[in-house]
Amino acid sequence: MIIVMSMGAAEQEANNVRDQIRQYGLTPHDNYGTQRVVIAVLGDIAPVRDVLMSKLSAMPGIESVTSISKPYKLASRESHPDDTIIEVLGTKIGDGGLTIMAGPCAIENRDMMLETALAVAKTGATILRGGAFKPRTSPYSFQGLGVEGLRYLAEASKATGLPTITEVMEPGQVEIVAKHSDILQVGTRNMQNYSLLTAVGKAGRPVMLKRGYGATIEEWLMAAEYIVSSGNPHVILCERGIRTFETYTRNTLDLTAVPLLHHLTHLPVVVDPSHATGKRWLVKPMALAAVAAGADGIMVEVHPNPDEALSDGEQSLTFEQFEDMASALNQIHGQVRTLIKDPFTMAGPIKVVGTSRH
Ligand code: PEP
Ligand code: MN
Repeated sequence: MIIVMSMGAAEQEANNVRDQIRQYGLTPHDNYGTQRVVIAVLGDIAPVRDVLMSKLSAMPGIESVTSISKPYKLASRESHPDDTIIEVLGTKIGDGGLTIMAGPCAIENRDMMLETALAVAKTGATILRGGAFKPRTSPYSFQGLGVEGLRYLAEASKATGLPTITEVMEPGQVEIVAKHSDILQVGTRNMQNYSLLTAVGKAGRPVMLKRGYGATIEEWLMAAEYIVSSGNPHVILCERGIRTFETYTRNTLDLTAVPLLHHLTHLPVVVDPSHATGKRWLVKPMALAAVAAGADGIMVEVHPNPDEALSDGEQSLTFEQFEDMASALNQIHGQVRTLIKDPFTMAGPIKVVGTSRH
């Protein structure tokens, strides 16, 4: 349930609404980024919905009370019609500009991190990536440099002035990762690790939540809801491909997620064509397609010598390939924004899309 207070409502009137919500054992949650005071009701609302609705309808200072049918409330577009814009070190994500996150899959040593950072910073990256804690499918593969890698990433950030993003794999790592990196990444394998989601929700850093490779869009948004409801409204969603019967690509890139998410949620949407395709030569075309679909940003892996990379070399771009791709992306981005305009208008009023299986 979402309560929109009238434009000139007194703070006391909003407080009365919050108290009324609490009287039913529910939690009022103020929304950010809108001109009016908008209060979302969190908790198991079903048993008291009707009585609360009628109590609130009789209270002064309220413009509207809307019941939200979706299981994710705070992440939904209904609760927050304006796009969420996230700012890190002066760089904005979700403001209509194009975010380009680039760097190595894994930070292998200090020199390669710095070399890659300087190269991508000069040729179009707006955010630096680099994995320090690596979730590898095989326990025998390179697991990342851990805290040492985080230090190299922070050093690369200083050298380039770019904000950074890196993965955090477990709640116990959140504090140290948040100390070294501007954005925390939750990887595909951890999308439904609820204790991690709650922990990053309290970390005070923006979080990029990658789609679980077997997750529906609704499950993904529910995972985002964990982070937002833990107190962190700064969540970026990253489509990175899902597992299907297709084997020519590492995953299947679900680009419908981009306009669909822009319809369903106010959170920015980034696409990772590197993990989605697993093949270097497929990265540029799919990055272009993602921007054409309206993505707020792209994340790609770049390596000084991909053939010798300790992880994901096959899908990592060379510096030259990155420069070529970034320039192409920037060229089409300006045109696409005006061409796509507003996919929501075509979809009509916001409504439940698909059926919930929860
Ligand atoms: C990554 O971005 O480094 C990564 C491991 O991606 P994913 O979680 O999408 O596999
Ligand atoms: Mn990788």
